[in-house]
Amino acid sequence: MLTNYHTHSMFCDGEMMPEDYVKSAIEKGFKALGFSGHAPLNFETSWATSEDNFQKYIETIIYLKEKYKDIIQIYLGVETDYYPDCKDLRVMPEIDYTIGAIHFIYDANTGREFAFDGSGKQFLETRDVVFKGNIRLMVETYYNMIIEMITNQTPDILAHLDILKKNNAGSCFFDESEPWYKNIVEKTLVKVKEHNIIAEINTGGISRGYTTEIYPSFWIISLMREMDIPIILNSDAHHPDWIDTYYTEAEKILALAGYKSQRILLDGKWQDVPL
Ligand SMILES: [Zn+2]
Ligand SMILES: [Zn+2]
Repeated sequence: MLTNYHTHSMFCDGEMMPEDYVKSAIEKGFKALGFSGHAPLNFETSWATSEDNFQKYIETIIYLKEKYKDIIQIYLGVETDYYPDCKDLRVMPEIDYTIGAIHFIYDANTGREFAFDGSGKQFLETRDVVFKGNIRLMVETYYNMIIEMITNQTPDILAHLDILKKNNAGSCFFDESEPWYKNIVEKTLVKVKEHNIIAEINTGGISRGYTTEIYPSFWIISLMREMDIPIILNSDAHHPDWIDTYYTEAEKILALAGYKSQRILLDGKWQDVPL
């Protein structure tokens, strides 16, 4: 059953309008499509939905939900960031689900936000300015922020767990097999399990040419399987053509790790369906 709940349109940093994604999903035989525009932030960015556009985003998805209800299930989600004083969008009755992510950190010394998953240049800037060159501190801080988000503002889905590896091709900055890295990932998964949230299998880095691998890494998926953590396969699509990018390959990887089902929003409720 084809589905995707991680979709970015022109309302944030995606290309094309939401309806173009709906048409693509119908063409590809999708059962459900969820939109997850980046939530408005308290500072200027090129990638988040602006405060002005947010209401329009919500209205557009609700309109599409109704328009296409006999052909495909449409859901209104939001990809939320967690930072000091961020709004809790889970209380909005129109919102069907949240995908929680950590994309940046606020640095009090410079009074600026620094990206965790930006370009290679931004990655180095974050390491050097915020963490004084200490890559381990940067990585551990990222995971500890995820833990804090899950504790204080539990999302339905945890986005792209190890997105930091986007800039770590060939383990150029850190080695995923080092005990400290394994420990912090495991600690994060314990929190995911404790709060019974869904871990995302995200193919978006591949369609955008950032990585050759899905998030998270195979050893993490295997560990998640051992811990019986539910998963959801998402494409993090920024273009209508990419709503199912790398799905066939990802399904093989999931089968290899022992996953037989995924947890998705269907007929208005979360349910486990075969992969
Ligand atoms: Zn994201
Ligand atoms: Zn996203």
